[in-house]
Amino acid sequence: MTQAAVDHAASTLARRAPSAREAQRADFEANKLKKRLRRLVGQAIADFSMIEAGDRVMVCLSGGKDSYGMLDVLLSLQHRAPLSFELIAVNLDQKQPGFPADVLPRYLASRGVPFRIEEQDTYSVVKRVIPEGRTMCSLCSRLRRGALYRVAGEIGATKIALGHHRDDILATFFLNLFFGAKLKTMPPKLVSDDGKHVVIRPLAYVRERDLARYAEAMAFPIIPCNLCGAQENLQRKQVTAMLREWEKQYPGRVETIFNALGNVVTTHLLDRTLRDFAAIHATPPPSLEDPVAPTRL
Ligand code: SF4
Repeated sequence: MTQAAVDHAASTLARRAPSAREAQRADFEANKLKKRLRRLVGQAIADFSMIEAGDRVMVCLSGGKDSYGMLDVLLSLQHRAPLSFELIAVNLDQKQPGFPADVLPRYLASRGVPFRIEEQDTYSVVKRVIPEGRTMCSLCSRLRRGALYRVAGEIGATKIALGHHRDDILATFFLNLFFGAKLKTMPPKLVSDDGKHVVIRPLAYVRERDLARYAEAMAFPIIPCNLCGAQENLQRKQVTAMLREWEKQYPGRVETIFNALGNVVTTHLLDRTLRDFAAIHATPPPSLEDPVAPTRL
């Protein structure tokens, strides 16, 4: 057999439909993954009291793998949860060139999810204001956040769910540490600056890798996130690469760092706003503290 024939046979084999056994195996793995995601999201919701009975949760859907995964798992939990809450999917169509506006409405209608598509041309604003070659993401995110908060008010949402996952939380932590000289990251639950909205991150415990595998298994109709033409922030890229490298070289290190974010000993840091260092004194030993009783003669 010639090399060309061997290559052809190999590529035909690679393209062939999966056998029944392989399909069964893939189903089993997808099911296992779904259960894990459900468990981790349920755990995060419980740990941080993210959703309460009667909540109307606005699920922000960008069309990326993370937000699809979040919506899917929340829908599944909604059917199982002992408490009742509403889910409304919201997408902000920022008028980026080539944005396939029909994809999300079609998907959401097929899942029977109530939704709202909000159109706001933040793309033109960002392009006009930011000089060519400069990073557009921070203004773009600010405008997006403003629009989403407004929609949350209009639809009466009591919670706004964002699709940031464990690796976003870790990357943000290191960005703040390395470039902002701050120990802080994205909290799993917070109140917006104007005090009007509660933002939650139900994927806080979920690894990005699992969301990517889940999106593939579920064949979500992903909308590419580079339609705006923006380059990914270089510092974020470096931090993400560093975390990936650690994960490879020192298995468990990233998990340990993530656990440390929930195990903070504020008394053993150097922040003077957290602790009145001037008031720190040794406790005198009890024998010196108690007055000595007079001895009777
Ligand atoms: S990548 Fe594009 S759409 Fe996303 S935040 Fe940056 S500028 Fe906005």
